[in-house]
Amino acid sequence: MMNAPKDPTNNTTPADLKVSIAAQTLRIQWQDGSSSEFSLPQLRQVCPCATCRTERENKQENPLQILKSDPTSWRVTNAQLVGHYAIQFTWSDGHNAGIYDFRLLRKLTDEATGAT
Ligand SMILES: [Zn+2]
Repeated sequence: MMNAPKDPTNNTTPADLKVSIAAQTLRIQWQDGSSSEFSLPQLRQVCPCATCRTERENKQENPLQILKSDPTSWRVTNAQLVGHYAIQFTWSDGHNAGIYDFRLLRKLTDEATGAT
């Protein structure tokens, strides 16, 4: 198999994207040929919206703070694309402020696989 040089502009662009509400997973096939699979409840823990970021920072300052909600109970009830650059989830608690930029999702994948 030929190892074609990767086009750096394509590695944050999904060629194919599937959200399974039943399985609570997000699968992305990237245009550079690699693929990622995310557990949606785990994505909630890295929700990029300002509210969740502040909440995570507060948690770090006070680790004994009681969790407001059980993270394992978070489920995605709806998902929609935002333009060509991001995906937005609606969670079972009504939260939908997080816009998951594909560059963020790609970064999470690369961090998880150590391919940075
Ligand atoms: Zn959020």
